[in-house]
Amino acid sequence: MGMNLLYSNDRKGEYPASWYAATAQPLDRFPALTEDVKADVCVVGAGYTGLSAALHLAKAGLNVVLLEAQRVGFGASGRNGGQLGTGQRMEQDGLEKLVGQEDARKLWDLSEDAKTLVKSLIAKHGIDCHLKSGVAHACFSKREMAEEHAYAEHLQTRYGYDEITPLDLDGLQAICPSPAYKGGSLDMGAAHLHPLAYALGLARAAKSAGVRIHEGSEVLELQEGSTARLRCAGGTVTADHVVLACNGYLGGLNRQVAARVMPINNFIAATEPLGEDTARVLARDIAVADTKFVINYFRLSHDKRLLFGGGESYGYRFPSDIEATVRKPMLEIFPHLRQVKFDYAWGGTLAITMKRMPYLTRLTPNILSASGYSGHGVGTATHAGQLMAQAIQGQAEGFDTLSRVPAPGFPGGPAMRAPLLALAMTWFALRDRLGI
Ligand SMILES: Cc1cc2nc3c(=O)[nH]c(=O)nc-3n(C[C@H](O)[C@H](O)[C@H](O)COP(=O)(O)OP(=O)(O)OC[C@H]3O[C@@H](n4cnc5c(N)ncnc54)[C@H](O)[C@@H]3O)c2cc1C
Repeated sequence: MGMNLLYSNDRKGEYPASWYAATAQPLDRFPALTEDVKADVCVVGAGYTGLSAALHLAKAGLNVVLLEAQRVGFGASGRNGGQLGTGQRMEQDGLEKLVGQEDARKLWDLSEDAKTLVKSLIAKHGIDCHLKSGVAHACFSKREMAEEHAYAEHLQTRYGYDEITPLDLDGLQAICPSPAYKGGSLDMGAAHLHPLAYALGLARAAKSAGVRIHEGSEVLELQEGSTARLRCAGGTVTADHVVLACNGYLGGLNRQVAARVMPINNFIAATEPLGEDTARVLARDIAVADTKFVINYFRLSHDKRLLFGGGESYGYRFPSDIEATVRKPMLEIFPHLRQVKFDYAWGGTLAITMKRMPYLTRLTPNILSASGYSGHGVGTATHAGQLMAQAIQGQAEGFDTLSRVPAPGFPGGPAMRAPLLALAMTWFALRDRLGI
């Protein structure tokens, strides 16, 4: 399969040098798998998807083994922008056209369940991850602002969602004083959090629910069958059910998923603490995401740094200078931060689909997979884990609704998808630059 994203940008068994890894309360290393074991369910991948699936299955009384190639929260779940967004990644008006009114309504309800699930898991398990309400959407032009306001109204009239307030120029500037933004909206139902602390909290909860977690245990081979067999270097797991939760790091483990779910890299940097100067970037503790195709997203850390995500890079290798990759878009939004230093900069691999909707599927009667959250996984991945746990227990309604969403393959299949995507992304990035 060529390059293995599990190891190409990171040191084996280590978290990246992120602000998140520097500030989360670490967990002791879980032992690698060293023998042949049996389980009701074997979950592969310990990000939000796998941790949530394992936790919910164990709570329901099933015997669960969770295999993680690196560390718990090593992947996108430990590196992301921490924004718990409203809705699906694809907007409701697009979904109404794609799947019809009835399923669009169900998908909206599921997305609200996803937000509620994250908030309630944090509360129930006492996860200390600095959860705070509020995400603002920022627009670059009056035209974009008008579209944003119309969409907020659509959510209110069609779906009864009244947590979004339209913001004019002054309203947005009162939250984020960037000369680039002309208005937008504020969604107090959305939230932001410390993503790695959240993942580690889920792992603690899964462990106490009885999940047997193994780190440093990459699944090298998956043999399908009425009982499946998963092989790691040190041992095997034989299980009645399998949950694949590898997202952007899946590699060649399953071709059907690989044809529809494509890994891409994204980057974040943490400035030095800004102290009193935080008001120059964010006057309130609200996260921001803007309308660029290569999206800029940012928020304050609890120690008053700006955590800024953005920047483009195509191909599987991270750029050699991640700081420069992030500094460029950051200075477009905050030109007055020219003198500010970065203390941390890191990258992560997420996964996208053609339609920017997650790909949930039953690969065989007893192998389920969920991935491709397209940059909207804090809520959706956590929820997909719960939906897979429910499907394994025979309640598949939510899982089936999501798995009905069309998921076309990338043109050219796994071999061609990366170069074609690079071309497409370059085109969209060019459009961003030209403002069309
Ligand atoms: C920089 C960045 C910013 C983002 N910002 C946001 C945001 O603000 N809001 C939002 O909602 N989403 C965001 N996302 C997306 C979000 O992080 C993901 O959708 C989500 O974390 C996916 O969770 P997951 O558990 O499916 O995958 P991951 O967290 O990537 O976990 C997959 C795990 O599987 C393991 N694995 C893979 N293959 C194997 C194998 N063969 N054997 C064993 N283990 C294996 C990997 O080591 C990894 O730990 C962002 C992503 C990135 C990278």
